[in-house]
Amino acid sequence: MHKPETISIVGGGLVGSLLSIYLVKRGYNVTVYERRPDMRKVEIPAGRSINLALSDRGWRALEGVGIAEDIRAIGIPMKGRMIHQDEELTFQPYGREGQAIYAVSRGILNTTLLDLAERNGAKLVFDERCTGLDLVDNAIHFENAKSGDRSSRKSDLIFGADGAFSAARMQLQMNERYDYSQTYQQHGYKELMFVAGKDGEHQIEKQALHIWPRGGYMLIALPNLDGTFTVTLFFPYEGNPSFDKLKTPADVTAFFKDVFPDAIPLLPTLEEDFFANPTGSLVTVKCFPWSFRRRLVLIGDAAHAIVPFYGQGMNCGFEDCTVLHALLEQHGDDWDKVIPAYESQRKPAADGIADL
Ligand code: FAD
Repeated sequence: MHKPETISIVGGGLVGSLLSIYLVKRGYNVTVYERRPDMRKVEIPAGRSINLALSDRGWRALEGVGIAEDIRAIGIPMKGRMIHQDEELTFQPYGREGQAIYAVSRGILNTTLLDLAERNGAKLVFDERCTGLDLVDNAIHFENAKSGDRSSRKSDLIFGADGAFSAARMQLQMNERYDYSQTYQQHGYKELMFVAGKDGEHQIEKQALHIWPRGGYMLIALPNLDGTFTVTLFFPYEGNPSFDKLKTPADVTAFFKDVFPDAIPLLPTLEEDFFANPTGSLVTVKCFPWSFRRRLVLIGDAAHAIVPFYGQGMNCGFEDCTVLHALLEQHGDDWDKVIPAYESQRKPAADGIADL
C-alpha cells in the first residue's frame, strides 16, 4: 500500500486550497506552493475579481470538509435568472422554492479557503512559481517571483492544481501518447462593475443572476455583499459588434446605450473601466491521463478547464475533492487504488456538464 508522507500541491487557487484542507484533515503533511503573493495581504487588481456561481456539487464539497457555513456567510443566494430583454424583465427560477445557486466573490472565496487551510495545518508558500517537475526524483522546480532564485523540493506525491495553463500538466504532455487539446472561444470577457445605491443597497434585484442575452454575445451581473454587482461582458474579439470595433470611449457608450440601455445608469465609470480592465480569453482544456506513476495527479482546471457559461469549472474542481475524499475513505488511503479510481470516475463527469 502506497501512503505518501509528504504531499505538495502546486497552485493555491480555489481547488488547491480546498484540496489541502481535505488532506490535512486526513492527517497528511501538506504544502501548497502558489506563484502569486499572498492574496490576503495584497489588493486584487481591478477587472480581475470575477464572481462565481457556487452550485450544489460545490456546496457538497464544502460540506464534506465542514466549511460550508464559513462560505455561506460570504455568498448571496441567486434564486433564478433575471433576463433583461426588450426593456422587460423575466425571472426564471433555478429550482423549487428555497433552492438557489450562490454568488461568491472569487477573491473573498480564495482568501477564506487559504485561511481555513492554514488554520487546519496546511503549510502555504507564496511567490514560488513551479517551472517544471522531475518525476523520476519526485522533485518540483521553482523560481521565486521576488528574488528570481531557483530551488527544488522533493515530495512523495504532487498535485497539479495550477489551473488551465498548468506547469505540472506540461510535464505530462511531454510523454508519448498523451492526449491533450486546448480550444479558445472566439469570445473574450471584460469585467465591469455596477455601483451600489447611495446607502449601499443593491440597485437591481439582489437574489438573481442578471443576464442580457443578445444572440452572439451577452452581459451578466452577479451580486456582491457591498451592494455592487460584478458584471461580465462576453463578447467576440472580432466581427461586428466586437471588442475590435469598440475603439473609443464614445463607441463604448453608444454601444451600451443602444444594446444594454438599463445598465447604463449603473455604470458611471463605464468608459474608464472598459479600457482599463483587461480582456480575458476563454479556453477549454481536455487531457488524459490525469496522473503519472502515482506521483503526480492533476485536479481542477489543470485537468479539465471549461468555459464559464456553464458556471461549473470551480464546482467541478470542488467535486474532484469530494470524490478523492470518498475514495480515500473507501480504500483506506491506499493511493495505488485511489488514483486510478479517481481518474476513471472523474473524467466523464468533467466532460458532461449542464448549463447556467
Ligand atoms: P485556478 O483558479 O486557475 O487556480 C490556479 C492557481 O494556481 C492560481 O492561484 C495560480 O496563481 C496558481 N498557479 C498557476 N500556475 C502556477 C505555477 N506554475 N506555479 C505555482 N502556482 C501556479 N466556475 C464556476 O464553477 N462557476 C462560475 O460561475 C464560474 N465563472 C467563471 C467566470 C469566468 C469569467 C471565468 C474565467 C471562469 C469561471 N469559472 C466558474 C471557472 C473557475 O474560475 C475555474 O474553474 C476555477 O477557478 C478553477 O480553479 P483551480 O483552482 O483549478 O484553478
